This record gives sequence, C-alpha cells and structure tokens, in this order.
Amino acid sequence: MVEKIKFQLDEKDIPTTWYNIVADLPDAKDATVLDPATGAALGRDDLLHVMPKELAEQETSTEREFEIPEPVRQLYAQWRPSPLFRARRLEKALGTPARIYYKYEGVAPTGSHKPNTGIPQAYYNKLAGKTGLVTETGAGQWGSAAALSTAMFGMTAKVFMVKVSFEQKPYRRALMESFGATCIPSPSIETAAGRAILAEDPDSPGSLGIATSEALEVAMQNPELGYCLGSAANHVLAHQTVIGQEALLQMAMADDYPDIVVGCSGGGSNLAGLSFPFLGEQLRGGKKVRVIAVEPAACPTLTKGQIAYDYSDTGRLGPLFRMHTLGHKFVPPAVHAGGLRAHGIGPLITRVLEEELIEATAVGQLECFEAGVQFARSEGILPAPESTHAIRGAIDEAIRCREEGQSRAILFGLSGHGHFDLSAYDKYFAGQLTDEIADEAILQQAAASIPEVTLL
Ligand SMILES: *Cc1c(COP(=O)(O)O)cnc(C)c1O
Repeated sequence: MVEKIKFQLDEKDIPTTWYNIVADLPDAKDATVLDPATGAALGRDDLLHVMPKELAEQETSTEREFEIPEPVRQLYAQWRPSPLFRARRLEKALGTPARIYYKYEGVAPTGSHKPNTGIPQAYYNKLAGKTGLVTETGAGQWGSAAALSTAMFGMTAKVFMVKVSFEQKPYRRALMESFGATCIPSPSIETAAGRAILAEDPDSPGSLGIATSEALEVAMQNPELGYCLGSAANHVLAHQTVIGQEALLQMAMADDYPDIVVGCSGGGSNLAGLSFPFLGEQLRGGKKVRVIAVEPAACPTLTKGQIAYDYSDTGRLGPLFRMHTLGHKFVPPAVHAGGLRAHGIGPLITRVLEEELIEATAVGQLECFEAGVQFARSEGILPAPESTHAIRGAIDEAIRCREEGQSRAILFGLSGHGHFDLSAYDKYFAGQLTDEIADEAILQQAAASIPEVTLL
C-alpha cells in the first residue's frame, strides 16, 4: 500500500479571512510606527499617502480577521491550497522517531510564498486607481511575486533589486521581465538615494535598505504608482496566514498536531504566516506549540539585534518601526548566499518574541546548505537557500528527538524551491561558500546607525 505523504485541500478550503494575531496579544505598551521628524505615533490615517485604505486599515487594526476579497481568493486558486507533506523519507534518513511535516509554498507560480501578499497588494492598489507598483527586492523572490501580481491586474511593476543578488541571479530578472516588469540593480543612478550611495562607494553591493529607499523615492515622485512591500509589515504578515490556516486543516487530516513549528526568518512573513494561526489557537486556550525562528548567523537580526525604533530603509525616507534591528546601515557579507538579508524584522515578530511565544536561533550558511542537500536527496525537492534555514532547524529538532528517544511532531515551512538559486548551490558544491558570520566590529558600527529617539 502506498503510504500517505500528501495532505491536500480543495479550492473551497482556501481561507476566507486573513488572521491578525494582534487581536489575541496583550495590548502593546509602545507605539509600533513613529514619525521620525516629531516622534509622534503614526496611525491608520497617517499611512494613507503610502498605501491604499484597506491596507492601512489592516496595518493598524486590532480586529482578529480581515475578509479576503473574492477576486483575491480566485487568484489564490491558481496554486492554493498548497500541499502539506509528511517527510517520511527524511525521517528514515535521519533515523528519527519524530514525525516531520512541511508546508510547501514552492508551488506558487514564482516559487515562494511571496504572491500570497503580492496578489492582495496589487488588488487594493488597483482599486485605489494606481496604474503600477514600485518595490524593492533582495534575492528576487518578492520582485518576481510583485511582477506576477501586477501582471494579473494589468498593472506595471518597477523593481529595484539588490545589486549583488542581481548579479548572482540573472534569471530572476528574466522572470520579472517575462511578466512585463522592469528590474533595476540597486544602488542605481535613477534616484537621489542611489546616487548618494554610489558617490560614497561606487562598488556598493547594495542592500535591502538601499533598494527600499530607491523604491520609496520613485513612488513618492510618481503619484500614479503605488509602493508595495514583500515582508515585515503587519498587513503582509496577515496575508501570509493563509499558510498556517491551511496547515491547521491539513494537520487535522493527518490526525496530528505540531509540537514544534519551525520557520526561516528574514522579515518574518513566512514564519508568521505558518506559525501565527497555531499561536492564535494557543493564545485562545488551545494546545501549546514551540515556535522556532531560524535566521542566518551572517544577518542575526533576532539574536544579535536590539529592540529599537529604526528605519527600514537606509536613506531614511520611511517612518521608524519598533523592531529588532541591526541598524539600518547594516550590510551582510557579500559571501552570504542564503538570502534573509534584512537588518530589521516585522514588528509583530518582535512582539511575539518579547512575549516569549517564539524562540530564535542563528545558524551558519554551510550547515544550512548541508541540510538543504540532505532534504533534496531524501524528499526530491531542491529548497530555496532561505528555506534551508528552516530545514536545518527542523533536522536539528528531529535529531534531538532521536537522542532523547521522543517522538514529536515537527512542522516546518518550506517557503520556496531553489530552482533560481542554482548558482548558490554551485558555489556550495565548489567549496566557495564560507561560514562568514557578522563580526562584532561590523555589528557595532551598524548598531551606531540606530537613531536616538525621543518619544513624545
Ligand atoms: C523572501 C523569502 C524568505 C524571507 O522572507 P520572510 O518575510 O522572512 O518570509 C524566505 N523564504 C523564501 C523562499 C523567500 O522568498
């Protein structure tokens, strides 16, 4: 008999609402977003010049659920519900009594979870009369999702891509262009923010913070364009909760429930998307889960950053966010190929870490690629380098189960496939990747860029 390994839902099971964990958390003591000029807290109305009213509402709301518009659910149906797998072959390879499950977002048209938020952001911007979107991208996953999403609504897309990634991943640009988007390596000469960086350092490898400044600048100068973002914001994290809501149903189909949920952590959106619905159950009196955020040692935002008000962009055009941050001037070492390069994290991830609802750990890139290859050789899916952090975390927990003779259920987020990241695997196999960690001097220097904020 063929053993069951896939737990699959139907179109009718696509969630009808996004989940907002804020409703189930204790009230926040401090404001999340501040105006850098005045130190005043920013609310819904202050966001209306940068995002459509529905997104501004979701960004600041304390309601538990937001209704998903039917046109968005219909587009979700192109790839959702995504499958949940039982990793039986990986379990055998590890000789572990653990039950390992993964929720696979690589079935989305651009290969990751990012279109889960790209589609609604394009939809609301279209409703608001925008003809196109402008945004930034690190490894290219979000840029591809923005390109796909705008194409679905007949809009344009302009994507500033971190230069080092642009050079490492030329096919990402081709994918974006296939959807009709324009992709520009950042820092670029197109914006004042980019030109300022290039004047200081013509060889700048770029960073997500710099690319964000460039995108914000273009959006501010072109009122027909909307700015959109691929991670970290509260509304983005909410959109991603379709992942965890489906996983709740699929774990029930498997007649199981996770003891441990593991996710890789960049800006925090796939981690939140998978774990928040489970944490919501726990916060409302349901079963407790251990949630583990796994980040790269080369960009240790949660484990080495401080909780502070900081900019998400290097050019300091945006507001201040209360979050774990390494400082907006932080640039990860260029040798780091595993993605997850953001200096700051979604403010809601900071909240749940402070509330001790999740744990965080940092891992080296070599042990991540090793885990990714082990996963590929047993499960047959080549993971995105970002996702290998979650795999590393899940494998380590499964090994612990073996050592302790305990069978626990481990659910991890396989946030994407690695078909566009073959050059990173190539470098790994050629022995060209090192375990470079962010050194103390660089961390201290970057931390000095966190502004002194006088609260109102
Ligand atoms: C963008 C991306 C990430 C990191 O972003 P989060 O907001 O932390 O989820 C992780 N995995 C993949 C495949 C990505 O494309």
